[in-house]
Amino acid sequence: MATITSIITQDIRFPTSLELDGSDAVNVDPDYSAAYVIIRTDGGEEGHGFVFSCGRGNEIITSAIDSYAALLRGRDIDELIFDLGTASRRLVHDSQLRWLGPEKGVTQMACGALISALWDIRAKREKKPLWLLLSEMEPQEIVDVVDFTHISDALDPTRALDILVAGREGKARRIEALMANGYPAYTTSPGWLGYSDEKLVRLSREAAADGFSMIKLKVGGNIDDDRRRMALAREAVGSLPIAIDANQRWDVAEAIDWVNGLADFDPYWIEEPTSTDDILGHATIRAGVVPVRVATGEAVANRIVFKQLLQAQAIDVLQLDSTRVAGVNENIANLLLAARFNVPVCPHAGGVGLCELVQHFSFFDYAAVSGSQEGRMIEYVDHLHEHFVEPIRITNGRYAAPLSPGTGAQILSPSLEKWRFPQGEGWLEIGSRAAVTVPVVSPVGVNQ
Ligand SMILES: [Mg+2]
Repeated sequence: MATITSIITQDIRFPTSLELDGSDAVNVDPDYSAAYVIIRTDGGEEGHGFVFSCGRGNEIITSAIDSYAALLRGRDIDELIFDLGTASRRLVHDSQLRWLGPEKGVTQMACGALISALWDIRAKREKKPLWLLLSEMEPQEIVDVVDFTHISDALDPTRALDILVAGREGKARRIEALMANGYPAYTTSPGWLGYSDEKLVRLSREAAADGFSMIKLKVGGNIDDDRRRMALAREAVGSLPIAIDANQRWDVAEAIDWVNGLADFDPYWIEEPTSTDDILGHATIRAGVVPVRVATGEAVANRIVFKQLLQAQAIDVLQLDSTRVAGVNENIANLLLAARFNVPVCPHAGGVGLCELVQHFSFFDYAAVSGSQEGRMIEYVDHLHEHFVEPIRITNGRYAAPLSPGTGAQILSPSLEKWRFPQGEGWLEIGSRAAVTVPVVSPVGVNQ
């Protein structure tokens, strides 16, 4: 019997604010960070997981992971990884820690890091990448890891099982197709708000030439700038879809006016037009910007909010995020909810490591849940992949199937060492030049 002997957290930050990579109307100066955790057993196994953040506050998430880790230390690893439904509930519904959420924010993300690190051990044990492990699990096993608490009015175990049983039809063929051709991607790399017009045009042209299915531009700073940048991008990519992303910048009426002000450039979707918690606001915006689609999800805290967005017909595209919710289990619930409402999932990625993690959910979705790639693509951003043991691979504008056993979370040891905040060698060189050391009020807060 092997037990968990140590759970170590690390505060890892990268000085991306120096180049304004990742800048948008709200996140004006992110330093991409990972609250990183390694679970070790006395059997020599290791599971890696992390939560993405924008810099300051990363220490709060590592501290929260430490609090939840106390619930796992000393426990039998097989009991946990072969009953991941129970393992997840043990963390998410802890009788005392639950008060800090429930099921939202730092606590939900901290649970997610640990739950995903357990999945990493399970997948490595079975020598499969996570997506293939999930795709080859029996439908009932998948249903058993989902927490149906507070979503059973929309999706109960019977209905979830029906979706997964239906997904068995043609599954082997779809797995083969994924291995051969990968999965469509779109890129946000050209569209960061801090980039010059010249860089925007150059990167947009490159994205179209590289075979991406879509590009995405950040909007919401200034309408005249947005119209100029949309015109430049439209000219650069021709008829290729262009999505726009406001990162929750607007109130409801303003969102409708602003998006309609950009309608002549034919945006494919408007992403995060307003507060991620405003379900009815999203429904109002959706009705007001037709035919532009409404997308959200990267900041949606849990499956219960996704359920309501779907019930209220407030979104056309569901953008799950790999580290915002309580790990692999809750994202399986989100995929099943999307399938139940027949809404395509186009996961959020970027940051540090989000591409490496989230690709597994789309691959699993195609293999065993929705069985479709229509209107579906994974976000791609070209930053920081070199720090990962298995970086994503993009071929002809598509994600190639990840092949290494595990969830894809593992960061190379030298990178962990160099970018440990604030004492890693990288940070000793950067000193106080990155934004992480200079507090700035978000433009959302300025406007309210
Ligand atoms: Mg976004």
